[in-house]
Amino acid sequence: MSRYIPDLYDRPVPRYTSYPTAVDFHEGVGAREQAAALKAVPADMPVSLYVHIPYCREICWYCGCNTGAIGRADRIGRYVEALDAEIASVSRLMRGRVVSIHFGGGSPNALPREELVALIGRLRSAFVTIARPEIAVELDPRLADAAYARALAQAGVSRASLGVQCFAPHVQARINRIQPTGMVERVVGELRDAGISAINFDLLHGLPAQSIEDVAETIRQAITMRPDRIALFGYAHHPRLMPRQRMIDATALPRGPERFEQASHAHDLLVATGYQAIGFDHFALPDDSLACAAREGRLRRNFQGFTDEPGAAVIGLGASAISQFPGLLVQNEKHVGRYRDAALAGRIPAARGIERTDEDRMLGEAIERLLCTGEVDLSVVAHRHGRTIADYFPARTRLQAMVDGGIARMSNGVLSIPPGAMAYARVVATGLDPRIQRDNRADAAAERRVS
Ligand code: SF4
Repeated sequence: MSRYIPDLYDRPVPRYTSYPTAVDFHEGVGAREQAAALKAVPADMPVSLYVHIPYCREICWYCGCNTGAIGRADRIGRYVEALDAEIASVSRLMRGRVVSIHFGGGSPNALPREELVALIGRLRSAFVTIARPEIAVELDPRLADAAYARALAQAGVSRASLGVQCFAPHVQARINRIQPTGMVERVVGELRDAGISAINFDLLHGLPAQSIEDVAETIRQAITMRPDRIALFGYAHHPRLMPRQRMIDATALPRGPERFEQASHAHDLLVATGYQAIGFDHFALPDDSLACAAREGRLRRNFQGFTDEPGAAVIGLGASAISQFPGLLVQNEKHVGRYRDAALAGRIPAARGIERTDEDRMLGEAIERLLCTGEVDLSVVAHRHGRTIADYFPARTRLQAMVDGGIARMSNGVLSIPPGAMAYARVVATGLDPRIQRDNRADAAAERRVS
């Protein structure tokens, strides 16, 4: 990987899982627009479902997700009732063909296994699905066992993502997530024995008291289990936005150069052991579908990160879930109580969003291509949207600074990221983003980092 450039690497930048990003959503767009977008989905359009379960057994202090501790047992039952009501409202309006279903959270396996299996069944009967949609579930290994794995496999689940983060016990203690390596090995074995052969690991660097050796040892232990995909994220510390992060000792956090070294070393270790680097923070075994999609130019980016899902629309179900349509981004009510009230009243529980202008779609496509492939022909994308390359260049000065800094190249309308500089991909993407350039508030920039 390339060298550490403090001004660029430490800059808070969006994750660009959508364009515009969630920071630009507003309350002027919501249920009415979502209902219209759902009705406009043609019957043959491939659609992905995302189902959010905002509960966990206990809360990890680093967590940036919309989730809370399970608490009273009846909370989950009442939440599932609301999900059922939303499924009924949405499926009445939408005719598209579901090709994949992804459960995220929180911890979907905070649900009793019978509850999750029944929910999968109800989704499959409420929507028109292809014969074998890919069904993926994020799992907290501390709540998983062989019976749960078998139940998921029987319900058609084919991929499981395990939150692993870091195997070093002293780091686990500082983030309130004690999870021995043996436990993860056991769960991986149980999933594979049950027939769920596609396994993803989520790892984190930049955690409190985490050293480069802790990251390297975590990678070494992870690859002995041979997960098909590994996502390696950098911990973003924003205690003002995420009060639970106040439990983290900020004085023990690795600084910029150390974070860069950790990410860089992890990248090199994974590539040296046969993983293919995908985008800027994912890795996959060469025969995994994500790696194939990357090689074949089919890689996409949506709210779940890098994906090979062919869905032209993503329908988010559950509190805070985001739906993506070609012309609309819309997020459900984040507050579980208000989400439940709206869904149970038979309303689409959308709370805020944004209608994408033609310019947004052009910029969004260019940013997505850049992040997925490290290169985008701006002339071609502009032409596809009936525009010219000049339409990108309110941002010329910012892009030029990146070219001068050696993290971007511009030649004949093609913007590219030099080999080894993908760590800066999101920074380069800001060069195409007039919204972030108009918005110089530090707090907004910080929020963008966790959006
Ligand atoms: S990191 Fe995962 S398990 Fe931990 S609180 Fe967040 S969603 Fe729950």
